[in-house]
Order: sequence, then structure tokens, then C-alpha cells
Amino acid sequence: MSELKRCPHCKQSDMLEIIHEDGYSLYYVLCGVCGISWATGYTKEQAIEIWNTRPIEDALEAECERLRGLLADAFDAVTTMDNRKLMMLRWNLRDMEASDEAEALALRTASRHTGE
Ligand SMILES: [Zn+2]
Repeated sequence: MSELKRCPHCKQSDMLEIIHEDGYSLYYVLCGVCGISWATGYTKEQAIEIWNTRPIEDALEAECERLRGLLADAFDAVTTMDNRKLMMLRWNLRDMEASDEAEALALRTASRHTGE
């Protein structure tokens, strides 16, 4: 059913159903793959709207898309570098790793002194 977003739990979209049981005035969405059901509404349209409204998921997907763009830019920058710049980048990364190790050692030492 294309009007429903994929299941937030199992990410499938083929087995989603809008259920309306006789004798009840509510509609809900059920995933036939993982069994999750929610998005209860008094109309079919309301249940669909609730199922499809996911502000946290939308924000996370936007952030992932932004980070994919940054990664692609960084990849392009690295693949077009000449050997001298690549060598400098390796040295900088080595320094960063050494500084991370020093910071971790300082934290471990400090926690031993404070007993945390
Ligand atoms: Zn599911």
C-alpha cells in the first residue's frame, strides 16, 4: 500500500494493512511482517496520517542525508588530493589518534585518582 510509509520497526512496506474491525469505530495500521500495530484513528485517513507522522524519524533521516553529503564531499576531496597533501593528511590523522589516546589515558588516570 503506497499511501503508508514503511514500517518503522521492520522497514517493510509490503504487508501493511489498515484494519477496521466490525463493531468498533476505530481504524489501525498493522504490519503483517513484524506484527506491530498502532496509529489508531476514527477514520481510515486519520489512521494513515498518524502512521505517517514521524518527526523524530524524519529529523534523523534528514541528518543522515546531510552526513552522507559531507562524507561524499570528503571522499571527493581525498580522491582528488595529490600525494603531498595525502601524506600531510595521514600525519594529521596520526596526530589526532595520538591525542585521542593521550586524552583517554588522562581520563583513566583521573578516574583512578577520584575513584570513579
Ligand atoms: Zn513491521
